[in-house]
This record gives sequence, C-alpha cells and structure tokens, in this order.
Amino acid sequence: MIQEILYPLLVLGGMGLLFGAVLAYASQKFYVEVNPLQQKVRDALPGANDGGCGFASCDAYAQAVAEGRADINKCVVGGQAVAEALAAIMGTDAGTVKKRIARVMCKGTDNNAVKKYKYHGVKDCRAANALSGGDKECEFGCLGLGTCERVCPFDAIHVTAEGIAESDEEKCTGCGMCVDVCPKNVIQLIDISKRVIIFCNNHDKGKRVRQICKVGCIACSICVRQCPEKVITMDNDLAVINYDGCTNCGACIPRCPTKTILNLDEIISEVVAS
Ligand code: SF4
Ligand code: SF4
Repeated sequence: MIQEILYPLLVLGGMGLLFGAVLAYASQKFYVEVNPLQQKVRDALPGANDGGCGFASCDAYAQAVAEGRADINKCVVGGQAVAEALAAIMGTDAGTVKKRIARVMCKGTDNNAVKKYKYHGVKDCRAANALSGGDKECEFGCLGLGTCERVCPFDAIHVTAEGIAESDEEKCTGCGMCVDVCPKNVIQLIDISKRVIIFCNNHDKGKRVRQICKVGCIACSICVRQCPEKVITMDNDLAVINYDGCTNCGACIPRCPTKTILNLDEIISEVVAS
C-alpha cells in the first residue's frame, strides 16, 4: 500500500526536479539581454498588441522605437498621451497623433442593394465571398455577416439591423484589424476630422450601379465639378476624396443624385434626435 503511494510520488517529484532543472538551464542559456531603453518604451505602451502601429506586437514596436527605426507617434490605442511619454523617453518631439477611424464605405443595406441569391452558409464574410463574391449583386459592397465585428478588440464595429457594418467613432482606435479581415476591402481608415465621406466602393459603370444599388456612386462626376478645392477625382468610375485637401465644406453633398456623399455630423445629429 505504502509502495503504491510512494513510487508515484517519487516519480512525480523526480520529474518535477528534472523539468525545473531543464527550465533553469534554458533560461540561463537562452537569456536575451533587453536594451533598457527598449524596456522603458515597452513599459509606456498599453500592451494591446493590436498591430495598429504597423508592428506585430508592442514588443516589436518598442524595439523599433528604441533602435530609431520607428516614429514615436504610431500607437493608435495610446494616442497622444503615449506619444508624449515615448517622446520624453526618447528625448524627441511628440508631434501630433492623428486619430483615424474605420469607415465602412458602403450604405448598401438590405433595402438599398439588390441580392442575387439567398446565402445560407456560415456567418462569415470570407466564406460568403468565396461563393461568387457573396449574395449581393454589387461585388464591392459590405456583405454584412460581421467578420469585422468579431475581430474588433474594442467592440467598435457592428452590423446594423439593415445588414451593413458601421463603426462607432467613440470606441474605434483605428487599429485596422477590421480593415485587414474584410474580404471586400470596403473599410478604410480615415482621419476623424474628415466629416464628409463618399460612402461607396463600387467601380462599376453608372448604368450597372443604378440597377443594383440605390445609393451607389454612378460616376456622374457632379461632385468633382462642385468641389471648390478640386480634391474629388474619379478613380475608375468611383468618386474619391483626397482628404488632405478636403475642408468639410459639404459643397459636393446636395447635388449628388444618389445621396452617396454624407456628412457624418448630420448623420450623428439625426441619430441623436430620433
Ligand atoms: S465590412 Fe467587410 S468584414 Fe465587415 S461585415 Fe462588411 S464585408 Fe463583412
Ligand atoms: S473598428 Fe476596426 S479599426 Fe476600429 S478598433 Fe475595431 S478593429 Fe480597430
């Protein structure tokens, strides 16, 4: 009886000692000295590991900053405060961190966009996209199955009851994880100060767009002519704004025949009022 208890205890104890010794040896043998500057930078980062800085992890970004290979204002989660902390550590100027927000460049809701078949597959935009580009006639629009919603670490993007993804600019950090996962490439990161947005991603000819979506860009170029700053151009039958020069004047909005161009502040005030 004693032997039945003693032997397993001895075996387990021996294995514990052996593994402990191996781990102790490995930690000595493979110890990598961390640059103290890198450690300071790392400690100042929020540790979200979201990749918004363009690096795979906070560790990788900290190393790049410490080695002078990366700017100090790339942490989108930390924003200005982290940029200033890193500036103090690195002895440099923080500059300004521009907050960018994920914008889903499509308003092709269930009411606005024509469907070509009924999708019954798994609730994943990538899977749906593999089936002839998904159930919408528009091959450029949001599929509304919420793959972006599930990947967002900040609960900042959701599919609405009308079947389209929309981001929450209060919560969005601009990390870009939704951008990377969307099979339609319909999400763009845009400076939060830019309030006038052309909510379409469709490059079809105008005639085709009229047949498949009520709110798509029909490439009429009216907005191009209306813009006093001349920052709207046609890109392969899709109107696009060069945001560097856009002043949010909204001159392009009223004449757009399909109401594809929207002012975010007006949308927000309408939502608040209702
Ligand atoms: S934005 Fe992209 S990932 Fe998100 S629901 Fe639409 S198609 Fe899917
Ligand atoms: S909505 Fe997109 S960009 Fe914004 S926090 Fe979520 S995953 Fe990141």
